[in-house]
Amino acid sequence: DTQRKIIEDSIRDIKDFPKPGIVFKDITTLLNNKEAYGVLMNHLYERYKEYDLDYIAGIDARGFIFGAALAQMLGLGFVPIRKQGKLPYTTISEKYALEYGVDEIEVHIDAFGEKKGARVLVIDDLIATGGTANAAATLVNQTGAECVECCFVIGLTFLDGIEKLKEKTKVYSLIEV
Ligand code: 5GP
Repeated sequence: DTQRKIIEDSIRDIKDFPKPGIVFKDITTLLNNKEAYGVLMNHLYERYKEYDLDYIAGIDARGFIFGAALAQMLGLGFVPIRKQGKLPYTTISEKYALEYGVDEIEVHIDAFGEKKGARVLVIDDLIATGGTANAAATLVNQTGAECVECCFVIGLTFLDGIEKLKEKTKVYSLIEV
């Protein structure tokens, strides 16, 4: 539809970034385009206003941009899920595989409040292999909260990341490429 096209057209492909052979989806051209950014945030607001969510959790770093804006629109709190070593208080952490090596993300142990079962939406700009989002959903659930859905602006469908993540939680990706 026209909303999707405005958003899709605002995302730029950068060849050979960060390495030769990779085509990087650059969302900075979505963010500095007030029409596209507005259309995207309104779309997400309309989708999630009926979800009865308690928190939005954004993945380091581009997930913070969409997640923090959406949390404000929905009147919810925002929780950062960060790369290892960035959060100051007690954390739980989860490792996940990269093409070469491992990475690790963390969340504050008390981020989703004292009572169990808080309903959490995890958000990031893009899903590729799904390793990052899978680790994020695991962390949310380990705190005693519930990852209700993982949301992405862009889903890369030539990898099986979305399918694998669907074994764990609901998945929504706005633009599939
Ligand atoms: P995955 O763990 O699904 O393989 O990789 C997803 C993570 O890498 C996300 O946090 C995302 O921000 C980042 N990422 C990987 N490829 C791209 C890309 O082409 N464009 C953008 N904007 N982020 C990417």
